[in-house]
Parts: sequence; C-alpha cells; structure tokens
Amino acid sequence: MRIAVLPGDGIGPEVTLAALEVLAAAKRNFALDVGVEHHAIGLAALEKFGTTLPEAAIARARAADGVILGPVSTFDYPPPEKGGINPSAFLRKQLDLYANIRPARTFGPATQRVNPFDLIVVRENTEGFYADRNMTAGDGDILVTPDVAIAIRKITREASTRIAETGFRLARTRRRRVTLVHKANVLRRSDGLFLEACRMVAASHSDVAVDEVIVDAMAALLVREPGRFDVIVTTNMFGDILSDLAGELSGSLGLAGALNAGASHAVAQAVHGSAPDIAGQDRANPMALIRSLAMLLDWLGQRHDQRAFCAASRAIEAAVGATIAAGETTADLGGKIGTRAVGRIVAGRVMRAESDAA
Ligand code: NAD
Repeated sequence: MRIAVLPGDGIGPEVTLAALEVLAAAKRNFALDVGVEHHAIGLAALEKFGTTLPEAAIARARAADGVILGPVSTFDYPPPEKGGINPSAFLRKQLDLYANIRPARTFGPATQRVNPFDLIVVRENTEGFYADRNMTAGDGDILVTPDVAIAIRKITREASTRIAETGFRLARTRRRRVTLVHKANVLRRSDGLFLEACRMVAASHSDVAVDEVIVDAMAALLVREPGRFDVIVTTNMFGDILSDLAGELSGSLGLAGALNAGASHAVAQAVHGSAPDIAGQDRANPMALIRSLAMLLDWLGQRHDQRAFCAASRAIEAAVGATIAAGETTADLGGKIGTRAVGRIVAGRVMRAESDAA
C-alpha cells in the first residue's frame, strides 16, 4: 500500500510528523506492507510552485491507496487565480469523497465535559453550502452589488441518498440508531429533499431506529444528552459545525479524527483547522490526526481484506485511549507534554500492542 502524505499549514507539519511516527510503529509491529511519500501543499507549495496544490501532488494523491492530509490555512490563501486552491475541497470533489465520517467519544472522567457518549457524525461532503463545490463554472458565493451577497446551497437526491446509505450501514455495525439532522422547517425545499431521500433509505433499514432533529435543537441536545445519539446523518455545513462541537465535548477539538471516504479513495484528515495561534510551538494535540490515520488503516484493511491493517487501527485507537487515561497529553486536555512527545508515547504503545489479532 502507498500513502501520500500532504502535511498542510500551521500545526499541520507537526501533527503529521507525530502521526507518521505512529504509522511507523504500526508498520513494524503489525508487519504492514505500507510505504509513504511526501508532497508539499499549502503556503509552502505556493511559495515554491505558485499554487497551494501542485499538479504532482494531485496526481500522486489520486494514484495512492490512501492520503494523509494535514490541516490547511485556507483563510489565508489568495484567490484561485493567484494559486490559492483549497486542497481539502479539491480532493473531496475530485476524488468524490462524499462521506465525511467524524466519530466523537468521551475518554473517561479526566477529560470529558458532559455525560459519556460515543457517536459518529456522517456529513455529506460534496455539496450543501460549500460555494466551491456547487457550480460547474465559478462558485456559489456571489457578490450581487458591493452591498449585497448571496450564497447558493445545493442539495441533490443522489448525494442525500448515498450519505444516508453510509449512515445506515454504519449504524448496523453499532447501536442501530440514526438521527437525521436538518432545517426543513425553514429550508423547506432543499432540506425537505434531503429528508425525503433519507426517509426512503430508512424504509429499507427497518432494523435501525430513526429520529429527526432540527439542527438548532441538535446543538442543545448534543450538550444536554449526547449519550442518546449513535449515528448522526446530516448535510455538509451542519455536519461541519456539529462535529466540532462533538469533538470539543469529547475533551478537545484536538481529539477529533475523521475520514473522507468515497467508493475508491480515502483521505485521513482531522476535524480541526491549522490552528495558527499555536503553530510551531509543540503544543498541538496530534491525536486527531493519529485517530484519522487509524480510520484510514481500517478502511484500507476492509477494502483490501487485510486483517493486519484493521488490527493496527484498533491498536492505535486503544493506544490513544491509554495515553489519555495516563494523563500523557497536551495542554488542551490538561496535560503538560508536547506534540512530539505525545506522538512518541502513542507510537510506543502501538509498538507494544498485541499483534496476534492480525
Ligand atoms: P482551528 O480548528 O484551526 O482552531 C480553533 C481552535 O482550536 C484554536 O484555538 C486552536 O488553537 C484549537 N485547536 C485546533 N486544533 C488543535 C489541536 N490539534 N490541538 C490543540 N488545539 C487545537 O480553527 P480556525 O482558527 O477557525 O482556523 C484556522 C485556519 O484553519 C483557517 O485558515 C481555516 O480556514 C482553516 N481550517 C482548515 C480546516 C481543514 O484543513 N480541514 C478546517 C477548519 C479550518
């Protein structure tokens, strides 16, 4: 297997380095046949190649079995005509990574902020309120006059159906409960279509319990009784916002791992951004990207029927849990150690994990 590594901006290179240390340990202990190759993207690539996403990086990402993508400072990028391409959006669209799987769970009393929970936000990834994904030419964020702006939100039956199918499939491997989150009381046509498509999918999964919650109430319920939720299926921007909330409630946004997955490609990418306020200070929590890596290994293992990859994935998740329980964490979780040290500690636990399951 070959994994293309695109380290990104801000804290990206630091958390990527930590994740790669964990991957190296998994490779040794679980005898994984996996190699990595690095490609510069983001502001470093803009300076060198005049674009934040060079053609070569795109081609290698497309050809790879999987991708590790660090966070990117999109807010600081110039417009596309000056080389500012959002690598995250571009890959999601070009590789058709329609499902953004964002799990969040609590890790015990030392770090949890609310009642215990274990849920997954299943976020549609290719349309919605994301202006750069909605049009054939140009984008859907329009300045009508200097004082009037309009943003277009695209919802299709096809995308809504396949994200619902992903959510129901996942629910069958868990507690068999899906919550559909929407704003159909206001967005009657677009979220009405989303709900209609999801209900059609629900009808063919009678063994999965379904409920529907309006997104604003969902924000409150996630704080009040997060344990009630199992799989949350929602549109792009609602999923983006709710998954940051769920990540923070689980202890820290720095714990929130995620996978962008399509039929033939997958990209491991943390939920958080490039955190410029703490970049270069060895303060970033690398666990979000480490957990994203675990999700990628599991995806590769299932896709290629390689049990060692799935076993390595479980070992990484267990090592993260044990590291948090031992209080060996960065400041966001109340700990006193740095990014590199957390990476080394998690890697050490993965190295010592039982590899028999493989
Ligand atoms: P952010 O997620 O980067 O940071 C929000 C807060 O969380 C900050 O206080 C930050 O220090 C903290 N934080 C984030 N990750 C952390 C980690 N691993 N460990 C400890 N603390 C962490 O959001 P922002 O500040 O709004 O955005 C910064 C930049 O990132 C912007 O340019 C934005 O466009 C971009 N962004 C990129 C992605 C992505 O690449 N997927 C996602 C969101 C934002």
